[in-house]
Amino acid sequence: GGGPAPPATRTTCPYCGVGCGVLARREPDGRVTVQGDPNHPANRGRLCSKGSALAETLSLADRLLHPQVGGRRVGWDDALDLVASRFKQAIREHGPDSVAFYVSGQLLTEDYYVANKVMKGFIGSANIDTNSRLCMASAVAAHRRAFGSDTVPGVYADLEEAELVVLVGSNFAWCHPVLFQRLLAARASRGVRLVVIDPRRTATAEQADLHLPIAADSDAALFNGLLRHLDRVGKRDVPYTDAHVTGWPEAVAAAAPATLEAVAAATGCSAQDIARFYAEFAGADRVVTVFSQGVNQSVSGTDKATAILNCHLFTGRIGKPGASPFSITGQPNAMGGREVGGLATMLAAHMDLEDAAARERVQRFWGSPAIATRPGLKAVELFSAVREGRVKALWIMATNPADSLPDADEVQAALRTCPFVVVSDVTARTDTARFAHVLLPAAAWGEKNGAVTNSERRISRQRAFLPLPGEARPDWWALAAAARRMGFAGFDYEGPAAIFREHAALSAFENDGARAFDIGAHDAIGAAAYDALAPFQWPQRRGEPARDTRFFSEGEFSTPDGRARMTPVAVLAAVAQRADFPLTLNTGRIRDQWHTMTRTAKSPRLMAHYGEPFCEIHPADAARLGVAPDGIVRVTTEQGSVLLRALITDRTARGSVFAPMHWNDQFAGAGRVNALVSPATDPVSGQPGFKRTTCRAEPF
Ligand code: SF4
Repeated sequence: GGGPAPPATRTTCPYCGVGCGVLARREPDGRVTVQGDPNHPANRGRLCSKGSALAETLSLADRLLHPQVGGRRVGWDDALDLVASRFKQAIREHGPDSVAFYVSGQLLTEDYYVANKVMKGFIGSANIDTNSRLCMASAVAAHRRAFGSDTVPGVYADLEEAELVVLVGSNFAWCHPVLFQRLLAARASRGVRLVVIDPRRTATAEQADLHLPIAADSDAALFNGLLRHLDRVGKRDVPYTDAHVTGWPEAVAAAAPATLEAVAAATGCSAQDIARFYAEFAGADRVVTVFSQGVNQSVSGTDKATAILNCHLFTGRIGKPGASPFSITGQPNAMGGREVGGLATMLAAHMDLEDAAARERVQRFWGSPAIATRPGLKAVELFSAVREGRVKALWIMATNPADSLPDADEVQAALRTCPFVVVSDVTARTDTARFAHVLLPAAAWGEKNGAVTNSERRISRQRAFLPLPGEARPDWWALAAAARRMGFAGFDYEGPAAIFREHAALSAFENDGARAFDIGAHDAIGAAAYDALAPFQWPQRRGEPARDTRFFSEGEFSTPDGRARMTPVAVLAAVAQRADFPLTLNTGRIRDQWHTMTRTAKSPRLMAHYGEPFCEIHPADAARLGVAPDGIVRVTTEQGSVLLRALITDRTARGSVFAPMHWNDQFAGAGRVNALVSPATDPVSGQPGFKRTTCRAEPF
């Protein structure tokens, strides 16, 4: 081709928590092209199938371009006046806890910051929760329990520096593909060993040196057994645990029943394979244990994650090159949400809601009239409260709970009865938008400007390269405008740089170094510097240069005594399977779709991977039930029933049915798998157990 290439905008991918850098270009003919950013430390030029198809997803055909009230187009002023008056009315008549925000790991940090500030500091309730509750709340709870702070110790490069990488409950090849590519490259050049722990023989498990197809939710037994083994073969890091860790004798004692035979019985794996895993783990000083939704999305998710952290603390393999536990987040900005405190159980800047001094500090910083004093409603409870009439006004941003929460039909029933529902989204084509009294047109990827944080604590800019279409506006703008109309001061932001600056200043406010999250180096950042901001890892305190950071190799925990806590993990008794629900439903993602498909379904290439809602069922179960190859099966749980195409395969275990969670009434008109999922949650984290609902299947 002739002529110089048009300048590219350096931005980040809006899908998974890897947080790849993307170069987006508007070609002279108006087309947009994307490629991986060779300078971004997360991906160094790589992109996966979803990221490389981003340009195919930019059509405005189904975009929401104007505010609507009751299905009719109105101006922003009228829509926001109504939002403010209905929220104020509910607060006046029923108190601050009668209103709620339900937000998203798709929000940018600036949107998230403003939403949290409005709810916790001005409305005075902690009723702001997020779809991140469905993703990594158990990892957050386990981090806080063990470290005293929600801190991911490692960096992506650890995957390349390890001798052994253990992937637990993670279909890395499909869900975090670029990190998996980095891992495979390191394996080719350095021979990194790979153990995959997953009930399914996924595309990831196919690549493993050892695959342990454990029974659902038997991870805690497996890692308790590992802790017992590490103790017996003398792998306790004596100086490290003596100086920096408490609770290890109790944790080891609690693991005593986890003998090889007991673990084999609990997991359904052979004692020989388990022994091999334990020996590999004990023998590798540089070991990284990656854990993701298979660990977190469980009614015992916090304990499962704790059992993993225990093994790393016990051996001192934490925050060292190639040695760390590593929670990998699903969404592009789950980590940014954690920074701003956008969860019902957190405050702001990683400060604790339970800490009165922290509450007073944040309130003083905000100059706010109120501060939430106790945790708010977590995602599943929030929608139960809506259903029970306790929440009178609800604002949902950038997420589709009518399809994505467990027991999703009940969530739809809740939304139908809620007196006032506001939905901010880029399209009205979602099952949630159907229940909105007010629809607000949000800015989409490519139009909005802000920051995101990936799974290794790296903060990157997401930049606009397209104009705002119609009357679409960023979420922070709509939130700040509504807050001003509610009479709140402190929401006159001229742009995302001003919000980021305030967020950075709060992280450094009266921070003597005891609080891990500190990005004070950016507390005076101007618009131009913000525009040019290069990816950096937190912390970056005032006066410090950007550099890659690990935590905890020298102790430095945020607990009151400065030591990490190993917590004894009790293994749950096996659940007796009901005769009418003899199978277990396991849900998850597929390689080429994202969430409820509002963006990825626009790409014909991505739709070609799997064209319709389906479930995987084991050949023995299919034969017993009379399910024909490619036949239709009805999968039923206590919550509901859906029809799915049967994919008969021994990738899924006997007795288990796997179904992806993407399809819904807007795409395919069927297959809303989350309508089947049990609303039971982990008692500590409030995260639902998407991976295990008892079910039955029958030919249709
Ligand atoms: Fe986007 Fe994740 Fe793929 Fe990277 S790995 S391109 S962040 S979906």
